[in-house]
Amino acid sequence: MDLSNQDIKFLQGVGPKKADLFDKELGIHSAEDLLRHYPYKYVDRSRFYYLHEISEDMPFIQVKGQMLRFEEVGEGQSQRLTAIFSDGRETIELVWFKGVKYVIDKYHTNIDYVIFGKPSAFNGRFNIVHPEIEIASKLPPPEQMGLQPFYNTSEKMKSSFLNSKTIQKIIFPLIQQIKTGIPETLPAYILQKYALLNLSESLINIHFPKNTDILNKARHRLKFEELFYIQLSIIRLKNWREQQSKGFVFSQIGHYFNTFFNDYLPFELTGAQKRVLREIRIDVASGKQMNRLLQGDVGSGKTLVALMAMFMAIDNGYQACIMAPTEILATQHFSTLTELLGDIGVNIALLTGSTRPKDRVVIHEKLRNGELNILIGTHALIEDNVQFANLGLVVIDEQHRFGVEQRSKLWRKNEQPPHILVMTATPIPRTLAMTLYGDLSVSVIDELPPGRKPIQTFHYYENKRPALNSFVAKQVEAGRQVYIVYPLIQESEKLDLQNLEAGYEYMCKVFPNYKVSMVHGKLKPKQKEFQMQKFVNGETQIMVATTVIEVGVNVPNASVMIIESAQRFGLSQLHQLRGRVGRGAEQSFCILLTGFKLATDTRKRMDILVRTNDGFEISEADLQIRGPGDLEGTQQSGLPLELKIANLAQDGKMLEIARNTAMAVLDDDPQLEKNENKVMAKQLQKMKTNSLNWGLIS
Ligand code: ADP
Ligand code: MG
Repeated sequence: MDLSNQDIKFLQGVGPKKADLFDKELGIHSAEDLLRHYPYKYVDRSRFYYLHEISEDMPFIQVKGQMLRFEEVGEGQSQRLTAIFSDGRETIELVWFKGVKYVIDKYHTNIDYVIFGKPSAFNGRFNIVHPEIEIASKLPPPEQMGLQPFYNTSEKMKSSFLNSKTIQKIIFPLIQQIKTGIPETLPAYILQKYALLNLSESLINIHFPKNTDILNKARHRLKFEELFYIQLSIIRLKNWREQQSKGFVFSQIGHYFNTFFNDYLPFELTGAQKRVLREIRIDVASGKQMNRLLQGDVGSGKTLVALMAMFMAIDNGYQACIMAPTEILATQHFSTLTELLGDIGVNIALLTGSTRPKDRVVIHEKLRNGELNILIGTHALIEDNVQFANLGLVVIDEQHRFGVEQRSKLWRKNEQPPHILVMTATPIPRTLAMTLYGDLSVSVIDELPPGRKPIQTFHYYENKRPALNSFVAKQVEAGRQVYIVYPLIQESEKLDLQNLEAGYEYMCKVFPNYKVSMVHGKLKPKQKEFQMQKFVNGETQIMVATTVIEVGVNVPNASVMIIESAQRFGLSQLHQLRGRVGRGAEQSFCILLTGFKLATDTRKRMDILVRTNDGFEISEADLQIRGPGDLEGTQQSGLPLELKIANLAQDGKMLEIARNTAMAVLDDDPQLEKNENKVMAKQLQKMKTNSLNWGLIS
């Protein structure tokens, strides 16, 4: 019996219309898909409660009893129907705001019902709004009901009567069907090694668990299976790519690297920078194509590492490029690198959307004939008419802003793919990295250049503004510069712009003696550049801006970062913004401004930022608060982070075991040809047809 070929259209209670909804709303086509649509929660229906047992923290209760009387109250909007329901000892009010007529017709006094719902306190009494009601004699005894599954549906499905309850009814006969067995997807030796429930038992009990103990076992097995197959496919891809794609060999450390290192480097490399450079060096000399992710907190000195890696390419006769997500950042990289390079004799150019056509032609020509060594740019780099003579290394800065498709375009620029160094200042928790970048090698710069004082962070309510103003005044008097950042969110762009401009005028008024710059996304690039430049030069002391300054901008003299409406930013974004200060020798400060009333999550975010400067700790906390799907930097990854059952925030240990197991399996049997492993090859094949092309990811 192959459930993956069994169209749900033919299942009892489905039919073409509901099948269509299943498909459109949940992507469910086959009986197997349906079995893999796991409940998102369960409610204990294994006993009846008495009304005196109710407390407010109970999610759901089930009570057996009778309706004593019905009453229609209120008019118009507030019209509702109530029923007084008795368990034989006490009473509770049941309330309906909709379907009044239906309820009156359907339910009667003097009949035993089982009601089920969430109790809520109202005027000092409990009531249940829109309870589920069944005739008691039609239900199995409670000890046979066990835990009731709840399934995700959509509004559209619900309005076509495809609610959780109907799904449960559709799945029920399927479960009877698989009781006789279903092909196992994990090999016996793995089931045995980790004492996992078999597939059939797991599916039966994930849908209709008898008790929480067996439910946990089922869940455990299905989580493991999910994580294991993701890892197996990632590692297989990695192995495959390492075999397939030969990499350019940068065999020597040559003139430019050595000259720069000995005569141009303005400071000692940190231990972490040295370590990462050694890791890169080994990769590029290995004959395999490098795919390396470099994680390092803001200000940890990734740019320098990128430059030294580019020397490795240039010294071996190759070109290199850096791709940055914004024009400001590309421009900044260009000027930083130009300055670092001095007169060493490396040719470098900047190519962005606003490069003049005349200059563009020259750059294209010099790229093709190999005269240019380093090209820096934005998306413009991946346009089709940009051709390199021999691109050996691509550095991608702030990688998560590039879509999968854009990245893969760059790969295809050469016959032989260049080495890839992906840099991100948004550290990713280990579990995510293993999944998102499981096929990349990972380097970490976990050490800041010496002499930095940790940024001090404070969370202020808006009523502290006067005190904040005098603090700003003190800092500016001492020669420092100040950022003030406003949120800018697409939906309320107009309003945000008004806030920003009001903020600008306010600062001009409060500080008539200081000069204030303003930068936002609506400015023309030239104006933006002009304003930025004034701040960089120290002509202006205060910079009022939106998040356009978020990435990369480097003004070491700026020591204060004030973030307005900080509640509207995500954790990683706040951390990024904070990283704009603390780049010089002076003590720096970050002030998070919010109103007094804050959601619990927001308060948590503020507390974390005040407590720590460690990007990894922050990303881990972000993962815990928001879950992997919403984590910054992961949305565009194109990876299925919305896992069906495993949770990257909670199942880190299991993920590690799954990954190690997958590695061990592939070490022993790379092609999965052994008899006992064939089941895995088959399962991978199935996943491939169902999901995206993993080969494009990196
Ligand atoms: P990020 O990792 O955020 O890209 P940058 O590369 O912009 O960090 O470096 C931040 C600042 O630290 C720059 O001003 C850079 O010149 C400086 N820097 C980098 N490496 C060192 C080092 N080893 N010692 C001292 N300063 C360094
Ligand atoms: Mg940087």
